[in-house]
Amino acid sequence: PKYVYDFTEGNKDLKDLLGGKGANLAEMTNLGLPVPPGFTITTEACRSYLSEGGLPAGLGDEIDTHLASLEKTMGRRLGAPDDPLLVSVRSGAKFSMPGMMETVLNVGLNDDSVHGLAKRSGDERHAWDSYRRLIQMFGRTVLGIDGALFECALEDVKHGKGVTDDLGLDAGDFQHLVDTYKEITLDRTGSAFPADPRDQLRMAVEAVFGSWNAERAVLYRRQERIPADLGTAVNVVAMVFGNLGMESGTGVAFTRDPGTGQQGVYGDYLQNAQGEDVVAGIRNTVPLERLRDIDPESYRELLGIMSTLENHYRDLCDIEFTIERGKLWMLQTRVGKRTPAAAFRIAVQLADQGLIDMDEALARVTGEQLAQLMFPRFGESGGRRLITKGMNASPGAAVGKAVFSSARAEELAARGEDVILVSRETTPDDLSGMIAARGVLTSRGGKTSHAAVVARGMGKTCVCGAEQLDVDAEGRRFTGPGGVEVAEGDVISIDGGTGEVFLGEVPVVASPVVEYFDGRGDTGDELVRAVDRLMRHADGRRRMAVRANADTPEDAARARRFGAQGIGLCRTEHMFLGERRQLVEDLILAGPGAARQKALDALEPLQKADFAGIFEAMDGTPVTIRLIDPPLHEFLPDLTSLSVKVALAGDDATPRDRELLAAVRRLHEQNPMLGLRGVRLGLAVPGLFAMQVRAIAAAVVERRAAGGDPRAEIMIPLVGAVQELEHVRDEARRILAETGVEAMIGTMIEVPRAALTAGQIAEAAEFFSFGTNDLTQMTWGFSRDDVEAAFFARYLDLGIFGVSPFETLDRAGVGRLMDIAVHEGRATRGDLKLGICGEHGGDPESVRFCHRIGLDYVSCSPFRVPVARLEAGRAVV
Ligand code: ADP
Ligand code: MG
Ligand code: MG
Repeated sequence: PKYVYDFTEGNKDLKDLLGGKGANLAEMTNLGLPVPPGFTITTEACRSYLSEGGLPAGLGDEIDTHLASLEKTMGRRLGAPDDPLLVSVRSGAKFSMPGMMETVLNVGLNDDSVHGLAKRSGDERHAWDSYRRLIQMFGRTVLGIDGALFECALEDVKHGKGVTDDLGLDAGDFQHLVDTYKEITLDRTGSAFPADPRDQLRMAVEAVFGSWNAERAVLYRRQERIPADLGTAVNVVAMVFGNLGMESGTGVAFTRDPGTGQQGVYGDYLQNAQGEDVVAGIRNTVPLERLRDIDPESYRELLGIMSTLENHYRDLCDIEFTIERGKLWMLQTRVGKRTPAAAFRIAVQLADQGLIDMDEALARVTGEQLAQLMFPRFGESGGRRLITKGMNASPGAAVGKAVFSSARAEELAARGEDVILVSRETTPDDLSGMIAARGVLTSRGGKTSHAAVVARGMGKTCVCGAEQLDVDAEGRRFTGPGGVEVAEGDVISIDGGTGEVFLGEVPVVASPVVEYFDGRGDTGDELVRAVDRLMRHADGRRRMAVRANADTPEDAARARRFGAQGIGLCRTEHMFLGERRQLVEDLILAGPGAARQKALDALEPLQKADFAGIFEAMDGTPVTIRLIDPPLHEFLPDLTSLSVKVALAGDDATPRDRELLAAVRRLHEQNPMLGLRGVRLGLAVPGLFAMQVRAIAAAVVERRAAGGDPRAEIMIPLVGAVQELEHVRDEARRILAETGVEAMIGTMIEVPRAALTAGQIAEAAEFFSFGTNDLTQMTWGFSRDDVEAAFFARYLDLGIFGVSPFETLDRAGVGRLMDIAVHEGRATRGDLKLGICGEHGGDPESVRFCHRIGLDYVSCSPFRVPVARLEAGRAVV
């Protein structure tokens, strides 16, 4: 294979082979922009190097050939004593991994060529500065010497001279540093700094290849979900010098503000500096506009190039440039990273400018970004006091009183107080506290800790792993850096987007995007306008409908404002909680016969009212009601606490408590999630499902009488065999017929057997709704409530999955079952309606998958509805 490409041979579409940096350097070269000549060694060579442990055969020769032609173009030879060519050796992978891999500048300098360089440039200082930089970078990156040693030596020299920055050093100082650096190198590696330019080049290339597997690069890729086996390309680029006096310098720039998308001149510039100095903060940079005064001609040229690049890439670009004695050179460009707000604004701006069409604009924003924009955040305010910074585990801004136990959290929340649950780490026992709290703060654990995983699942603000905090749950207090003390009841504020923890109340501002969805938005706001345009376009393009999972009229109404076209999952078990628990207990204690019927009769009107409320909120749109699903014991008191209560009461224990205890014991199951629940419960407790169906029918009749347009769909959970469904369906049909109400009857597909026998099940079902939470846990055979905290962190570390299968659909396993069910179901019943109501219905990647396998709709929590609409649209363009 061909391992080396001259910049004139590549282009921007060859990122796989040339890496992002190399592909874009080639693209700029072809655009006729002033790029120093050079060549790129491919990622393929890197992969071969990493697997074989050495440079692939033929690569050396190819490099020689390209170097020779570079030398010819430049009229200089690499490291030649009289007039040396110097090069940089730069890493550059397909996906940008900022600061993760290595680059060495000024390759080709040694004790001889440093004089040649000085003679040619007429600047001794520059030559020695460049030489010491080479030893410093080479020493650290290629030879693995601790960079601090070089830094300290540099500081010593500055200190000795009484200057604060490198501009105060002269040629002699740098020459002296070169000697010190050489000593450090000899001392640390046992050999002298390699003087041969060819050796320097080869060693630098190998080091860049090797840096692909540096620990931090491996970690970064895992976090960003970049595949581990891509490898990096290496770019060898003729050096240009920003450190040749005050008419030289180096800078970075964006074609638009990456924070807001505003067009303008954004960037930083540093005179008489090289490479990394701009971002390293060694001296104060000046805003890019100042270049207009410093070097008007280069400034004008730079602005021209920036506009060329934007028009060419049709997107925000960021660039690195260097000015060598008034001559501008482009050293890098790429489509720049941006904030979510900027992403929306830029996409619409570019469409308005006619650079892209709306389909492309839609493709350039993501549901994830939209979700980010929907969280409330802390407003700009003066006196906020930062306590510490932890990990940004789940976004949002939360303010409340610190509490140190789940019980306290519930207690205060019940009184209407806002609380932040603080603990070293959370366990499944803290669930109720997490639900009650505004936010969660832990001092232990990373982004895959229990707290983080659960909080993200609930959409609750969470900062985790704030290790500087010493949490004393017993003493109900924590201490932070600088002796800050926070006791129970003290107000703190946490920012789940940045990981910051503040003392006291920081004012929270609602997201303008949510206000807009809620119909209260300021449509003059540019961000809101951009979101509106893209949402409209997505709605116009998408094939799938979007529904919401909602159990109350309030949730349903909000979902509708957010654009839901129906309810895909209305859980009925929530209707059995609170004060109605008593009635459910009666039902359970009753046993078969008249007593049970009486208990059911008491529940029916309450259920009817619940349904009527939801039908009203969703008038004219379909509402899928799932009959009761969870195991009955969930409605009973906890076994341990009830046993204790009865035991403590002794002879005084009430008959009801005794009965309850017996029932709890009787209903106890080893694996409740695999036990008596869903359709099994419906068949085992006659009358239960019938009561619910009657309530639905009665609610429909009531709404009709009121002039409404209720559209009920009845959904049976946990079906694994068509026979189960047939029994329930037949009874439901009878009841519907009696009341003259029409409703589709369908089932959830959430047991693997249901997916595998979907062809049969479709005989009895008018619709399928994939319950992917259960389907995921049953397909993998692990319990969602237990495993996330127990071993998911380890599995993510080991790469067994890149993301929790409860967050993003496991396409290979669960997705395959869905695909089978879609095909076999439709084969049986051509007009079978298909949807998804698991948590995945609001996950961007999963939504696109649902589109691909041909579902008719996705259903998700009300808050995720806009995300699903956007992604359903993106799936089409
Ligand atoms: P990174 O990917 O970390 O930005 P780069 O390979 O872009 O690393 O290089 C690091 C710095 O050195 C950048 O500021 C870049 O502009 C500068 N640089 C790289 N090659 C050259 C060169 N041939 N001449 C001058 N400066 C260079
Ligand atoms: Mg760079
Ligand atoms: Mg389920």
